[in-house]
Amino acid sequence: MAEFRSDIEIARAASKKPIGEIGERLGIPGEHLLPYGHDKAKVSADFIDSLADRPDGKLILVTAISPTPAGEGKTTTTVGLGDGLSAIGKKTAICLREPSLGPNFGIKGGAAGGGMAQVVPMEDINLHFTGDFHAITTANNLLAALIDNHIHWGNELDIDVRRVTWRRVVDMNDRALRQIVSSLGGPANGYPRESGFDITVASEVMAILCLARDLRDLQRRLGNIVIGARRDKTPVFARDLKAEGPMTVLLRDAMMPNLVQTLEHTPAFVHGGPFANIAHGCNSVVATRAALKLADYVVTEAGFGADLGAEKFFDIKCRKAGLSPAAAVVVATVRALKMNGGVAKDQLGTENIGALQAGCANLGRHVENVQSFGVPVVVAINHFATDSLNEIEAIRNYCDALGVEAILCRHWAQGSDGTEELAHKVAEIAESGQAQFSPLYPDSMPLLEKIETVARSIYRAGEVTVPKPVLDDLARFEEQGYGKLPVCMAKTQYSFSADPKQLGAPTGHTLPVREVRLSAGAGFVVAVCGDIMTMPGLPRSPSSERIGLSENGDIEGLF
Ligand code: ADP
Ligand code: MG
Repeated sequence: MAEFRSDIEIARAASKKPIGEIGERLGIPGEHLLPYGHDKAKVSADFIDSLADRPDGKLILVTAISPTPAGEGKTTTTVGLGDGLSAIGKKTAICLREPSLGPNFGIKGGAAGGGMAQVVPMEDINLHFTGDFHAITTANNLLAALIDNHIHWGNELDIDVRRVTWRRVVDMNDRALRQIVSSLGGPANGYPRESGFDITVASEVMAILCLARDLRDLQRRLGNIVIGARRDKTPVFARDLKAEGPMTVLLRDAMMPNLVQTLEHTPAFVHGGPFANIAHGCNSVVATRAALKLADYVVTEAGFGADLGAEKFFDIKCRKAGLSPAAAVVVATVRALKMNGGVAKDQLGTENIGALQAGCANLGRHVENVQSFGVPVVVAINHFATDSLNEIEAIRNYCDALGVEAILCRHWAQGSDGTEELAHKVAEIAESGQAQFSPLYPDSMPLLEKIETVARSIYRAGEVTVPKPVLDDLARFEEQGYGKLPVCMAKTQYSFSADPKQLGAPTGHTLPVREVRLSAGAGFVVAVCGDIMTMPGLPRSPSSERIGLSENGDIEGLF
């Protein structure tokens, strides 16, 4: 039984098909698949360009309620639904993000799904995969090196060393690097300045790779990065340092989407990986657009709860890439609903109908929010072995009253057999043409109003507080011509508010906007709310303590 095997044991025992056969399912000719070993391949940019005139398939978003620290099964459900759609005869592709090493060695673990709903090879996908994150990290850090080098050799651009906003990145949770002083050690080492590191998945280069349409667009966006300012606060661009050419060269291969397969051989593109709390939270536009040309159904995941991942999927990715989702699945679990109803983390396995019912307000709010984008919703209850029948019934009753269908899914234990009903329902909604997608706010709305609109309509905040220096920054961005960009909210994933302890469905709270950052290359303005950090730390007992090689050389402890 699946319940008795760990994710990695199931993944290791998978009977994978050669990657060429997976490509064939989508009609990708062998010469356009660039294999990385036997079970991973990149899809050539030429082939993707040749698809432009084909019609698009239906795009299905998988999102969720506010999560517990372990994750509630969006990736697992994305894979389960993809396999479910394949099993009922639909030509399906899945689009996921590449996992970051930070959570892998921290608390949350990997991001290749779980149980009988996984993408494989899970060890590779969760570790170095095809090297994309290396390329992104390197391109980011090349720009950082060019900035300090330019200052060292005379600073012709007159960069104010106190106003360099470009930070170095590494794909690791490392709180020691949040604030640093660089260039110490005397004249030969440059001019000392305060700086810091972000995690790679929070970087603008990651966002750019995920939003660029092709290599030309990638290079243009990289050139548009604002790295800091002069004393008079005029922006200095990456193109002023002639950085966009070599950065594009470093990212050329990383721009090609990676193809892998699920345990049931459904093709899956795993490409790009911005976090959803501190970045925009969805896989690359290149992968999603290619998948829509190659399959009739494309199932994709946006990170964390729908307040973060789905909002940014709609308002940033879909708006910018011209995508129009046909349906959304909101994943709910008994345990996360109980947690949102006030149950402590170590008590989640015990039946508690009262807490569950209280926590359902969180589900209701997310469903309503997603519907407000004009996208029809179905709720997927991701079944855990500890769920009681009464608890599942209570969720169904709540959803009945809300007028939204809730379907129990057992893909973690059963693979596609566990999502047959969900697959039929999603196909029915997608084919019905009910969706009338539109983003939350128009491009023309001023930046501050965009932030307030998300805060009021999605988070249900009563007030948004913005300190004077932040208001000045927003005014300057507008003056410089960036007022039409969407906003990328950076906020805790655990609550609708900026306070991770306010669970459930709080209203009337205050959203403190601490800082705004212009991502001129990615094409959005980041609003940093509350204490959220762009470089996470490791917990007291990180999962790395349980990761190692077995006697016979197998990797153990990834999950
Ligand atoms: P998310 O994408 O929402 O962050 P994941 O799909 O990555 O969540 O799942 C998080 C973890 O929970 C994974 O380790 C997965 O194996 C586990 N998991 C997901 N669904 C179930 C389930 N129904 N029963 C037991 N474990 C599950
Ligand atoms: Mg996930």
